[in-house]
Amino acid sequence: GVLGVRLERGSDPAAGPVALVLQDVTEARRVEAVRRDFVANVGHELKTPVGALSLLAEAIEDAADDPETVRRFATRMTHEADRLARLVRELIDLSRLQGGEPLPELVPVEVDTVIAEAVDRTKLAASAKQIAIVTGGEGGLVVRGVEYQLATAVTNLLANAVAYSPEHTRIAVSARARAGFVEITVTDNGIGIPREDRSRVFERFYRVDQSRASRTGGTGLGLAIVKHVATNHGGSVSVWSEEGLGSTFTLRIPLAAGADTPATPGPAGD
Ligand code: ADP
Repeated sequence: GVLGVRLERGSDPAAGPVALVLQDVTEARRVEAVRRDFVANVGHELKTPVGALSLLAEAIEDAADDPETVRRFATRMTHEADRLARLVRELIDLSRLQGGEPLPELVPVEVDTVIAEAVDRTKLAASAKQIAIVTGGEGGLVVRGVEYQLATAVTNLLANAVAYSPEHTRIAVSARARAGFVEITVTDNGIGIPREDRSRVFERFYRVDQSRASRTGGTGLGLAIVKHVATNHGGSVSVWSEEGLGSTFTLRIPLAAGADTPATPGPAGD
């Protein structure tokens, strides 16, 4: 790479420069290229539903004397509008998470509350597919974090588990403390992720298969958001998956200091 040189000062400015830092300038260029790609991707992603909406509106005009067709196209318009709304919401989430905005103050957050919130937000979609969401693991765990971000991350994992699982299956959400972290796992018995895609699913706009993603109204941003939340909290996210068997996503967030042993032991769960 191309190296740049920067002088770094110590805590006492009067002491003068104390370190020469070699900086990789190609890294800055790469970041710039990623940003350009991102804007191009966003444009492309917005074009699809907007184009569909305008075609459907035209079709409705042409079919004005056929109420059945009008109804059918209107349903598809609602679907496209929902998809557009989700895309915009996720773009805003993502830009908040990765934009220069300082992270809101980290405060103690109850993991049980985060999980309950996420289950609440996905239970409608789950029950539409007769999927049971089962919670378990250790109760009473506390992490240091930003509650709405953590709830968004777990919601995205749960929403994916629902989207990529067949009807009448089960999803398990569970938490446990391990080596200074809380591990929140979301396990489904869904379609799984092919080996070659596993390392890439956390990239923005990455989808395993365009056709299955568009059927579920996916945007390819959900897991990128989860990854940003994990990183913002000094944690991580990983996936285990087997095609045809299902997937387990594990979100690791540092335990709040002094919270290694929960004040009140939670229910054992199943
Ligand atoms: P999307 O909005 O398309 O779901 P995500 O970033 O949330 O985008 O996920 C990226 C891709 O990873 C998805 O398109 C999907 O193919 C795959 N994926 C995510 N979660 C699961 C899961 N629980 N089971 C199977 N595939 C999944």
